[in-house]
Amino acid sequence: MELITRLKNAVKAYDDAHNFTCDLCGRELFANERICAPCRKALPWNDGCVCPFCGRKIKEEGVCVECKAHPIGVKKARSVFVHEGDAARLVVRFKRGEKYLYRTIIDTMVPLFAAEFSFVEGIVAVPMTEKAQKRRGYNQAQLLAEELAARTGVPFLDVLRKEKETPSQKFLSRRDREKNLSGCFRAERAPVKGKKLLIVDDTLTTGATISAVAAALQRAKAGELYALTVTSVENKTPFGAPEE
Ligand SMILES: [Zn+2]
Ligand SMILES: [Zn+2]
Repeated sequence: MELITRLKNAVKAYDDAHNFTCDLCGRELFANERICAPCRKALPWNDGCVCPFCGRKIKEEGVCVECKAHPIGVKKARSVFVHEGDAARLVVRFKRGEKYLYRTIIDTMVPLFAAEFSFVEGIVAVPMTEKAQKRRGYNQAQLLAEELAARTGVPFLDVLRKEKETPSQKFLSRRDREKNLSGCFRAERAPVKGKKLLIVDDTLTTGATISAVAAALQRAKAGELYALTVTSVENKTPFGAPEE
């Protein structure tokens, strides 16, 4: 290999492994980290009381209201953070163009993966339509899933497609979101058949997206399904419009 290529590769490898400043506050870093210790400590880690199914933060032990009304479609979902404060801002920045943040985010996801999901046989990502992906330039969930696969050695399976665009989900309840999403996703059968799979996404809001993706994987005869997201919305009040 030419010397210049070797040097370029070495610089890139060094940049990949290190940050010079904290991704949250911009403070100078000296250790091998991407978020400084004070910011790390202040992040809303979702490590307290969570719903055993959807993994959302809840006030007291038990199954959350959402899951009681409507199962989430995977055996267990977990998220690294509660969707608030710096964690929510980190995810929003990552989705709005600051693509490089995937490494910072994955640093926080790997320990939770190791603790909860190390037995899975494949990692899949919530897909976007081709058009939406072109508009953004990347699919944030796939970027996370591929990096998680690279770091853990579990294969990333590129088997999911989103075939039609859905209108904004912002003001819809979980049931309406599911109606909105049903039939949007398709999974290839051969690579997923009988396998334990982990679905990766950025945020769990109502859980409707994860449920719809899980349904597509079930139609393709996948085995047990699990989900891991960066953040999840705390289960405080019903989402969107009240369900009748
Ligand atoms: Zn910081
Ligand atoms: Zn729940």
